[in-house]
Amino acid sequence: MTKKLDGNRFVIYNEALHDMVKREQFIEEALHHSVERGEFTVVYQPIVDAKTHEVYAHEALLRWQNTAYGQVAIPYIIELAEKTGDILEIGRFVLEAACRQNLNWVQQHTYDGLVSVNVSSLQFEDFNFVASVKEVLKVTGMPPERLEIEITETNAMLNVEDKISKLRELKELGIKIAVDDFGTGYSSLSYFTQFPIDTLKIDKSFVEDMMRDENALAIVSMIVNMAKTMRIKTTAEGVETKDQYNKLLSMGVDRIQGYWISKPGPPEQLTSKDHIKGVFED
Ligand code: C2E
Ligand code: MG
Ligand code: MG
Ligand code: MG
Repeated sequence: MTKKLDGNRFVIYNEALHDMVKREQFIEEALHHSVERGEFTVVYQPIVDAKTHEVYAHEALLRWQNTAYGQVAIPYIIELAEKTGDILEIGRFVLEAACRQNLNWVQQHTYDGLVSVNVSSLQFEDFNFVASVKEVLKVTGMPPERLEIEITETNAMLNVEDKISKLRELKELGIKIAVDDFGTGYSSLSYFTQFPIDTLKIDKSFVEDMMRDENALAIVSMIVNMAKTMRIKTTAEGVETKDQYNKLLSMGVDRIQGYWISKPGPPEQLTSKDHIKGVFED
């Protein structure tokens, strides 16, 4: 914005800002009732073993269908819901929906792998978090071994001791732990070794850049090697091309996820084994 505020410019700027704040308030208000109104749905994206091509898990991703606002970016929704506290109810909804969906697939013999659920910062901070996960397992009848939770690296590094103890408790139940968007935060490696982690998900920004940027490639390679030493699995997010896949495979990445295999989709359009086989054969 220019410093030389002539009358018109100032008015236009003010109105734009005002509209933005208003829109944000409207969305917050709308979000407050969204779970009970059934406006949230969950889509699923497969995470596939780089060598065997078996589906390891389906990641549950939230979608909001609100007639007044259409498609709103999910990270923005999560940010607003974190601010208002509604994320606790939304998070619980996703967890329960994902567990029920997984049980459904297993019952219908269409899929027997894991389901992976993202957990937000406030959810994970909540003192009731572990209890609420246990309760969802109980009411749905979901075996803990088929549930994976995804915590972002930044999120894990806040109140580290508390996070380690929560994760250990979940881990003892049999739940798998993945660290999402790995490489974007500033983890202290000494703390990191104390986390009971099963998987590091390499952030998609590195995968996107690695074919033309040596630094990004070096970061991917460092993460993969570090994980191997720690006996942790790696998943590369945001894989969009066969070239990226081949590069990742040669570096020893365990699993891949991305549009190259399948975009997230509704549960009734579960990505078929034949489709996945076809992608690798092409
Ligand atoms: P994330 O957990 O890292 O999920 C990956 C995001 O990348 C998803 O975006 C997914 O649709 C997208 N993606 C997958 N493959 C590709 C690809 O090949 N290329 C590109 N460019 N993108 C790809 P989405 O669904 O919009 O979710 C964005 C973020 O919002 C998620 O990042 C996660 O942090 C958050 N989120 C989504 N659902 C939930 C939820 O239920 N709870 C919480 N707390 N956060 C959620
Ligand atoms: Mg995730
Ligand atoms: Mg991610
Ligand atoms: Mg992300």
